[in-house]
Amino acid sequence: MLTRLTRQVQDVAACGRRLTRTFTSAARLELAAAYRGLELLGLNEGVSNHLSAMAPRQSGEGEVMLVFREGLHWKEVTASNLLGLDMSAKTVEGEGSPDVTASSIHLAVHQKRPDIRVVMHTHQPYVSALAALEDCELRMVHQNSIRFWNRVAYDVEYGGVAFSFEEGERLAKVLGDKDVLIMGNHGVMVVAPTISMAFEMLYFLERAAMVQVMAFSTQRPLKEIPEEVIKSVAPEYMKRAQNYADTLYYAVFRELQRTQPDFEKTTDNLNRRSCSSPQSLGNLVR
Ligand SMILES: [Zn+2]
Repeated sequence: MLTRLTRQVQDVAACGRRLTRTFTSAARLELAAAYRGLELLGLNEGVSNHLSAMAPRQSGEGEVMLVFREGLHWKEVTASNLLGLDMSAKTVEGEGSPDVTASSIHLAVHQKRPDIRVVMHTHQPYVSALAALEDCELRMVHQNSIRFWNRVAYDVEYGGVAFSFEEGERLAKVLGDKDVLIMGNHGVMVVAPTISMAFEMLYFLERAAMVQVMAFSTQRPLKEIPEEVIKSVAPEYMKRAQNYADTLYYAVFRELQRTQPDFEKTTDNLNRRSCSSPQSLGNLVR
C-alpha cells in the first residue's frame, strides 16, 4: 500500500512528466499553458495552428484528444474551455468544435503514433521560412540544431489545406517514427510523449531555424558541425531531453501564473492541486 507521501510524489511527477490516464485536469492545465506560452513566444499564427494532447475522458472511460475551440485567440485558452474529441472527431467534452484541420491532422497522427501523447503544429516564422525553400533541410550548423539530428522528416508534397482525414494520414505516414515534420510551403509539426517536451522542441526548432536563415542571408558558406561531434553530442542531449524541456516549460508556466493566471481556470479542482506548484514540481523532476 502506498504511503501518502509516495502517492503525492508520484502524483506530481506524473503530472509534470507524463499525461497519465488519471490526470485529466493536469493535461488540460498543461495544454492551456502551452497555448499561452507559445503565443507569448510569438510562435503561433493568428487564431490558426493547433496543439493537441491525449487525455483521459472526464467520464473515466476511454480517452479524448484535447484541442482548442475554433476562433479562440490562444490567449483565451483555459484549462476548462479546451474541447475533448473522441476518435471520430465528435466533441464529447466542452461546447463547440475545433478547426477542421485540427481534427483532420491531429487525430490521424495520434492514431498512427500511439507512442506519443502530444502533437503541436504551428506556422512559426523561421521554420516556415525554411519550409519555403527548395531545400528545406535543417542543417547542423549550430548547437541548437544538434538536438534535432536524425529526428526530422520532410514533407515536400504540399497539396493545399489539410481538410481531410486522409491528408492527416498522409502526413502521419511521412512523419514516420520521427519527432519533427517540416512541412514544405506550410509550417512544422512536432510530436512528443509530454507537453513540455513538444513545447520546448518548437522553441528550439525555431531558434535553430532562425540561425540557419540568418546565416543564409549572409550568402557566405555555412560551416557544418563535424559528424563525429554531432554523434557524440546528440545522444547526450537526448538523455537529458525531458529535464531540459521541463526547465523551460515550467519557467514559462510560472511567468503565465504571474501575468495571465486565468489560463488555470478549470471546472475540476480535484486534480488541479497536484499541478499548482510548478516550482516544486521542477525540483522533483530534475
Ligand atoms: Zn497549418
